[in-house]
Amino acid sequence: MPASHPVDSDCIFCKIVAGAIPCHKLHEDAHTLAFLDIGPIAPGHVLVIPKAHYVTLDQVPAEVAAACAAVLPRLSKAVVQAVGATAWNVLQNNGREAHQAVMHVHFHIIPVAGGRALDFKWQPGKLAGDDAARLRQSIVARLGNSELEA
Ligand code: 5GP
Ligand code: ZN
Repeated sequence: MPASHPVDSDCIFCKIVAGAIPCHKLHEDAHTLAFLDIGPIAPGHVLVIPKAHYVTLDQVPAEVAAACAAVLPRLSKAVVQAVGATAWNVLQNNGREAHQAVMHVHFHIIPVAGGRALDFKWQPGKLAGDDAARLRQSIVARLGNSELEA
């Protein structure tokens, strides 16, 4: 991690990265830190964060995002084994309306404990042809991948 990485001195996770607030550390590398969540939704609820301060995922440089993603498989395996789970969710909230409370990007690993899955309602709609084409075009244009643009 570069010495001049973004930090927010008021951010609780930046304070954890700096060692100013303790955590139950599970993993650390140049770009990431993983630790037990202080308010676990289920036993084995852990967080993976970039050491640098970014508020939402869209701000995270690809190299840092890749470092976070690289931790998830191995840590998921260790966590679910440790708590005797076989299923889990990886959750990543962006923005207050999406239930983000700590404004420093983080990935939750939440095992399903005792058959009690994360409590959210998945209510699928239907992807209509015209809407899908318009939406696809709008997203592809923003990605700047000219090969896929119509
Ligand atoms: P969010 O709702 O922002 O996606 O989740 C933030 C998570 O951070 C919550 O699950 C909360 O329990 C956890 N958290 C907040 N403050 C601390 C802290 O000081 N230490 C640890 N280990 N976890 C924290
Ligand atoms: Zn921060």
